[in-house]
Amino acid sequence: MKAEIIAVGSELLTPDRVDTNSLFLTEELNKLGIEVVRKSVVGDNRDDLSATFHEALEHVELVIASGGLGPTEDDLTRETVADLLGRKLQLNKEILQYIEGRFRQLGREMPAVNVRQAMVPEGAEVLENPRGSAPGLWIEDSGHKIALLPGPPRELKPMFYEQVLPRLQRFASSVRMFHRELRVAGMGESALEQRIKPIYTRYADVNTTILAAPGEIQIHLRIWTDDGAHAQKTLDEIVQSFQLALTDRIFSLDGSPLEEVVARILTMNGATISAAESCTGGLLAQRLTSIAGSSSYFLGGVVCYSNELKTAWADVPTEIIKTKGAVSSEVAIALADGIRRRVGSTLGVGITGIAGPGGGSEEKPVGTVHVAVSHAGGVKERGARFPGDREAVRWYAAQLALDMVRIHFLYNGGEPPSRGSNRS
Ligand code: AMP
Ligand code: MG
Repeated sequence: MKAEIIAVGSELLTPDRVDTNSLFLTEELNKLGIEVVRKSVVGDNRDDLSATFHEALEHVELVIASGGLGPTEDDLTRETVADLLGRKLQLNKEILQYIEGRFRQLGREMPAVNVRQAMVPEGAEVLENPRGSAPGLWIEDSGHKIALLPGPPRELKPMFYEQVLPRLQRFASSVRMFHRELRVAGMGESALEQRIKPIYTRYADVNTTILAAPGEIQIHLRIWTDDGAHAQKTLDEIVQSFQLALTDRIFSLDGSPLEEVVARILTMNGATISAAESCTGGLLAQRLTSIAGSSSYFLGGVVCYSNELKTAWADVPTEIIKTKGAVSSEVAIALADGIRRRVGSTLGVGITGIAGPGGGSEEKPVGTVHVAVSHAGGVKERGARFPGDREAVRWYAAQLALDMVRIHFLYNGGEPPSRGSNRS
């Protein structure tokens, strides 16, 4: 079965509100094997609403709408849908009594406008709303199913689980969505596309989406089918081909973020880590400690912004800072070595760079970052020039550091085959 979601509310067309209900609904519908083929966000306008519902009903069997069931003049979903289906609105006494009761409990008289919420299109089923005043509505019409749900997520979600889900289960098919999420670091979107396009274009029944995020690319593979075994086999086959094409650039086969992957690697290897960070201001430490159980591998670190503290806290020789500058491969290495020795961890990470927007020069423009990973057997350093604003540069730098730690363990501290420029 295919579905459309309509999010109703003018506030959702402003810059400060976002339609989250459709994300929840999409996830739940997908679990039932119902594919969401379109989502719309519509303001509180009768003509726009009517046109959107009309179009949705032409395309799909199931339409789920959220919002516009309130008591005020701008809440138009109920009236518009009744009009569109040619059904009269009738006063439902039970709902009216329920709403009056709610107001009485609050020691208030029900305002006259709330009567609107007790109006039900002919033939519609009422979906009770114990958490709010607006009941939802379920309408079946010429083979279509329409669910009208209240906008507030704390009302919509339980109503979906308690009243919509059991109704949908009656129509559920055996078709399901099978999904994989791979994540890739250290590679641009076009280079990735070049390597994997010949693979995924061979699978017409698989929907492949490539999403670029700062410092990583996510690849989503989706198959809608009733043949689970075939879907899993196909996905395995594609993932294996991707692994051959992208080798060590894939860091996650299950959608886990890089810090989680690195946490797993450190734990598996019984290794500990420390960090001396300048331009990232503790972002690496923050990401490493965002994982439960991080105390088993993260020992600690320092944020040493000033030159003096790079020396005082991570033993960076003043001479190096003077001759090479604070943003240099030499200082990154000294930070990594210094913090590792001080803390006594297996690995030490040093990060120094220019996040911008100020502070750049011709020789070292904004975005210049040096990251070093030190261990007892040596140190690896990488310099990069990252694009984007301050936040992006900081994120990229932490991402590079995490990826270097991952690569360190992948090759047992040795050189990756294709990257020869790192020091050891
Ligand atoms: P309603 O009165 O039913 O139109 O919805 C009222 C409130 O629900 C709004 O003020 C929003 O805070 C919230 N809301 C409405 N639609 C959505 C949506 N699609 N996603 C998240 N919150 C919503
Ligand atoms: Mg509204």
